[in-house]
Amino acid sequence: MDRAHYAPSQPYEDSPQIIGYGATISAPHMHADACEKLLPFLKPGAHVLDIGAGSGYLTHVMAELVKPNGRVVGVDHIQALVNMAEANMAKSAEGRDLLSSGLVHFVKADGREGYSSGAPYDAIHVGAAAAEHHQVLVDQLKAPGRLFMPVEENGLQHIYVVDKTTDGSTERKKLYGVRYVPLTAAPRDR
Ligand code: SAH
Repeated sequence: MDRAHYAPSQPYEDSPQIIGYGATISAPHMHADACEKLLPFLKPGAHVLDIGAGSGYLTHVMAELVKPNGRVVGVDHIQALVNMAEANMAKSAEGRDLLSSGLVHFVKADGREGYSSGAPYDAIHVGAAAAEHHQVLVDQLKAPGRLFMPVEENGLQHIYVVDKTTDGSTERKKLYGVRYVPLTAAPRDR
């Protein structure tokens, strides 16, 4: 999927780009690693939640992987970004199909609570750094299922991957340091 539909500037640079509203589209290497980690769970038919969907780019990439009968919900807490993600997706024929078939939909919600109406999910991606390990996100995973999430602790952010196994037990792995926009309360006026 062409990142130029989603990044307003320098779409082919391996760096994040500002998309407005205090948000960035993550760097391609970051999206690539998120996809790679979630890949065993991004099969055709899978149900996926993308929290902090922002530009919508990763939402689109994951949707391509779960075609033709999967479901991807992209959640952002800023309505203008929900609209932007939809508009970005509508720039390509593939994206328009994803929207019109209902395979993808974008909603305004507080991702710290997950998105219960689409649960349980095979894969949950969080694109903003959480201040804590939100148990509700693990609760909304299938067994098996996988969560990819940056978490901030003591001023440092790290990627965590949480696996829920078939017996319902969970295993959390800390991977590497990152810098993401925070997963916060919604700004008042948007
Ligand atoms: N994956 C996106 C990342 C956008 S930046 C992309 O690559 O384009 C992180 C996004 O998280 C921002 O769009 C921000 O509005 C959103 N966000 C922050 N806190 C949130 C919350 N509590 N619920 C939902 N979205 C949130």
